[in-house]
Amino acid sequence: MTPDTLGLTAEGCMALLDAGDVSCVELVEAYLARIEQQDGDLNCYLRTRADAAREEAARFDREGRSGLQGVPIALKDILCVRGEETTAGSRILEGHRPLYDAGVVTRARAAGLIPLGKTNMDEFAMGSSTEHSAFGTTHNPWDARMVPGGSSGGSAAAVAAGLAPLALGTDTGGSIRQPAALCGVVGMKPTYGAVSRHGLIAFGSSLDQIGPFALTVRDAALALQVIAGRDHCDSTSVELPEPIAVPEGDDLSGVTIGVPADLLAQGVEPGVREAFDRSLEHAQHLGARVREITLPTAVHALPAYYLIAPAEASANLARFDGVRYGLRLEEPGDTIVEMYGRTRSSGFGAEVKRRIMLGTYVLSAGYYDAYYGTAQRVRTLIRREFDQAFTDVDLIATPASPTVAFPIGERIDDPWAMYACDLLTVPVNLAGLPGISLPCGLSEGLPVGLQLIGSAFSENRILAAAHALEGAIGFDPVPAAMRSAG
Ligand code: GLN
Repeated sequence: MTPDTLGLTAEGCMALLDAGDVSCVELVEAYLARIEQQDGDLNCYLRTRADAAREEAARFDREGRSGLQGVPIALKDILCVRGEETTAGSRILEGHRPLYDAGVVTRARAAGLIPLGKTNMDEFAMGSSTEHSAFGTTHNPWDARMVPGGSSGGSAAAVAAGLAPLALGTDTGGSIRQPAALCGVVGMKPTYGAVSRHGLIAFGSSLDQIGPFALTVRDAALALQVIAGRDHCDSTSVELPEPIAVPEGDDLSGVTIGVPADLLAQGVEPGVREAFDRSLEHAQHLGARVREITLPTAVHALPAYYLIAPAEASANLARFDGVRYGLRLEEPGDTIVEMYGRTRSSGFGAEVKRRIMLGTYVLSAGYYDAYYGTAQRVRTLIRREFDQAFTDVDLIATPASPTVAFPIGERIDDPWAMYACDLLTVPVNLAGLPGISLPCGLSEGLPVGLQLIGSAFSENRILAAAHALEGAIGFDPVPAAMRSAG
């Protein structure tokens, strides 16, 4: 049997496999066929690994399977896969084949998940639309004229379009939650340290986290279960205080949800606000208490983030020099300095160069304290404000993105407009907290994401509340445009 992968969840895949209705090979073939059919237009995948995926599936068919074994997954192309091209969306890494698997890839494989391929992204995860990819833009499955969000736009769009039941992305300032919101899927950024960053090509090392995309909150929990926990290759990773639980139930009684009025006053589109307010009503019907809170410094999160993240990026990206990885120019010049310059000038895109220049500037003598130091102090205050808020409330709710998906091309030449996408997500990264985006309705036919933020390592609380709300909201994650396209 060939299953219809559109709207098929990981739990749905498991049920089909468990019942023997489909084999692992048939399941993988169904996804590969749909990718073949749809991805020419969408551009979610930079590369698929069809033969390797088929072989892995065949092994499960031969040897037997259980649980998540045989369920496909898509990987953002910033995660190293041994021997397979990994570019982080950049020309400078074209042809780069890592010598090892990222920690999350090792875990995904150990759980029996089958990587289908690598997904498109903004170059080095810098962006909110996937337009900064060196390999073309990904299109939003809800409306192909729109961006899917970013930087993990390929992963979000792949899950929305039925090109993978699960995907991994990374979130430095919103890159899981914002594309999840714009594509109408669930996306979760775990607590800093909850998931190993080993083998993740670094952007902002104090901010980066890997997390799952899925069609349902339960699926996201299943994926998080696989990837979370200590990895000795990442000294910032820790064992979670309690294992990730797959949520059940629909009760929010005893849960207090805080709504940061000052942050929301910064410019949330009316249609987004309406969908957000409706989901708060659902929360109240399920028994939650909703109260207004203030996060006065969080309104400064965006400028602080756009100093700290580029500062870290400028250091992390110094290693791409034409010697060790990827791009080697035909005419690299006569001296090593010339080679560095030429390689980096031709290998990096405009947004990455902008960040490197900004980051180098704010770290330079005489400016360090004024810019980077001030941003770090703002970061500390934001963290304290969240800590304070969580003494009164269990969760904080905001929209994940101030707007729905915007037209391709609209913000590409206006960095500040692009950065404004991250208004509601970056405070969470600066504070190292977990956050989820789940679809909570449509505005002008495009999905709106509800963000739930919790205290450090409260993933289970977030997942439980998100699952309860998901049931009440009843969002259909299959894009109408995809349904008619077959
Ligand atoms: N949009 C933000 C940026 O461009 C966040 C990116 C991310 O989370 N990787 O930096």
